[in-house]
Amino acid sequence: MKLVFATHNLNKLKEIKEIVPEGIEILSLTDINCQEDIEETGTTLEENARIKVDYVKNNYGYNCFSDDSGLEIDTLNGEPGVFSARYAGAEKNNEKNIAKVWEELDNKENKSCQFRTIIAANIEGKESQFEGVVRGEIIHEKRGAGGFGYDPIFIPEGYSKTFAELDKKVKNTISHRAKAFGFFVKYLMSVD
Ligand code: IMP
Repeated sequence: MKLVFATHNLNKLKEIKEIVPEGIEILSLTDINCQEDIEETGTTLEENARIKVDYVKNNYGYNCFSDDSGLEIDTLNGEPGVFSARYAGAEKNNEKNIAKVWEELDNKENKSCQFRTIIAANIEGKESQFEGVVRGEIIHEKRGAGGFGYDPIFIPEGYSKTFAELDKKVKNTISHRAKAFGFFVKYLMSVD
């Protein structure tokens, strides 16, 4: 079965290719000659994931899945959530996004939060969604050189290092994305 992952992100592509069952060929948007940046106009992770899948299914006809992730901070009612990439503006600047999180959390004692990933899929017309969550806490300094986005200020529950300090292999086992991928792969095994 050919299955399109609605992403241009090569790291995500590599991560999923390593865990899908045999017999499933994963194609990227580039592989199907889709150069567009699919506009994410939804107001939830669920909506944005669905928009990307529907776009590929309707315009290219392939079985498809997509992911959408965000940082959800408890005392900020789940912000920045679906706006994580552009929390401090359309330029999608990680430094500014982190500064804004610190500003919003100033004087707030509760630093609890989570990363959440939604995977949406459409396989032979059957729509489904899978969720992965990793709980943790925001710290008020940046630690670690690895990772991306909010990694340097996020410590996952049960650990003392940030996502940017942890070994990549560890992050890729416990992360929201890894968990959602895991549930999705289980599903693929059951439909294949
Ligand atoms: P995406 O849906 O995977 O592109 O994630 C949207 C945004 O959420 C990213 O641009 C980051 O700001 C944030 N984000 C998602 N996953 C992670 C992560 O694993 N570490 C740090 N930031 C993340």
